[in-house]
Amino acid sequence: MNPNPLRHQNYTNFLATAKKASLVLILLVSTLVASADDFGRWFDGRTLRVDYIRRGNAAGDTIELSRFVEKSTAWSGSRTTLIDPFDNGDYRVSMIDVESGRTVYTKCYNTLFREYRDTYEAKHQSREFEEVVNLPWPQAKTLIVFEKRDDRQRFVKQASFVFSPRETAVEHVQQSAQVRDLLLNGPSERKVDIVIVPEGYGPNDDRRMRDDLRRFADYIFGHAPFASRHTDFNVRGLLLLGDEEGVSNPALGRKVESALGSTYGVFGSDRYLMTFNLFRLHDLLDAVPFDYIVIMVGADKYGGGAIYNFYATVSTDRMAPLILTHELGHSIGGLADEYVDPDLSYNSIHSSRFEPLEPNITALIDFGAKWRNLVAAGVPIPTPDNDTLPPTQCGPVGCYEGAGYQATGIFRPTMHCMMRDYAPYCPVCSQRMNDIFDLYTK
Ligand SMILES: [Zn+2]
Ligand SMILES: [Zn+2]
Repeated sequence: MNPNPLRHQNYTNFLATAKKASLVLILLVSTLVASADDFGRWFDGRTLRVDYIRRGNAAGDTIELSRFVEKSTAWSGSRTTLIDPFDNGDYRVSMIDVESGRTVYTKCYNTLFREYRDTYEAKHQSREFEEVVNLPWPQAKTLIVFEKRDDRQRFVKQASFVFSPRETAVEHVQQSAQVRDLLLNGPSERKVDIVIVPEGYGPNDDRRMRDDLRRFADYIFGHAPFASRHTDFNVRGLLLLGDEEGVSNPALGRKVESALGSTYGVFGSDRYLMTFNLFRLHDLLDAVPFDYIVIMVGADKYGGGAIYNFYATVSTDRMAPLILTHELGHSIGGLADEYVDPDLSYNSIHSSRFEPLEPNITALIDFGAKWRNLVAAGVPIPTPDNDTLPPTQCGPVGCYEGAGYQATGIFRPTMHCMMRDYAPYCPVCSQRMNDIFDLYTK
């Protein structure tokens, strides 16, 4: 069913937060978080970039601050929704105004480490990973708190750093990449801003890189719900050539000095094509406002991957228009893969006790919190497969067994979907994508 399954995101067990605890939390949060029109009270419109190292293995991980950077572009995220409304992702960064104790900003995300910790290597060996978050620049002394999910799916504090706009030393990026505007529809704070970063283009590939940037910008809008909402987006590209053409591929013994140092074969998966050089990536992005990063690898060999609120990588092979749309489902929507892949299910066995965080798969533990409201009366749950339905149609919303790599115990909304087999996005996935576009534009 899945022509080219990638090792995009793996799903470990997530524990549902106890209802009682979440009610207390909701009450607590509602009294302490900033209200929607508070942006100017807490923030001054600049962008604070935080570079840090996450070091760890399967047993656990720690965070160490590397540096604060004043990004040279204004805050591109929402000025009206400052608290992340989606309870998705394994990590969260929060900003707490020290004087008032108020939580003034939160954002959830996933990381490359999240993939690493489930590998065989991580059982024995620690590795360190560069990570970067961009935050709105605070007006006053602020605590920046990094959290991760515990084994009951609740966020627990990992580290916190004080940032004082008048006292904390900040750095500035000296050399960023040149920016090419591909689609401009309005101010960044009211648009979904996507930046495309070319990778694997050599000194003689300038023409090809520019042509590919143009094509990729068009691919973004090839499918619903992107197509009908293209005026809600800005798309920019970096002009970026490496010292050599191509990207590294350890399986072929190939080491390439590419612009971002991306490589195939990440975590032992041939087609998993990612970069670990987050600090360099964000240095290159210093002069461009963005909400989402697409790394466009100019290579014929199929490869890629995407991580929620982190970045997506897509190679320019012939499947790129579909794969880009699929990967944006992961990196923007935080959507799960809806296909079955026994090779990937080893580290993503969903417990029968807990509901996965992703909006488009369910373990039928709390289906009411997922898409039950979209299932028509009379449709049985679980819903029997309809193998005669062509994969160009999603088919009716129900609850079909087989998703999140697992053949049993995890259910998806429709027979076919962009997140399963490159059909159109199903209504559940479309809804989440639209909700996120709204967050940046409304
Ligand atoms: Zn995927
Ligand atoms: Zn879907």
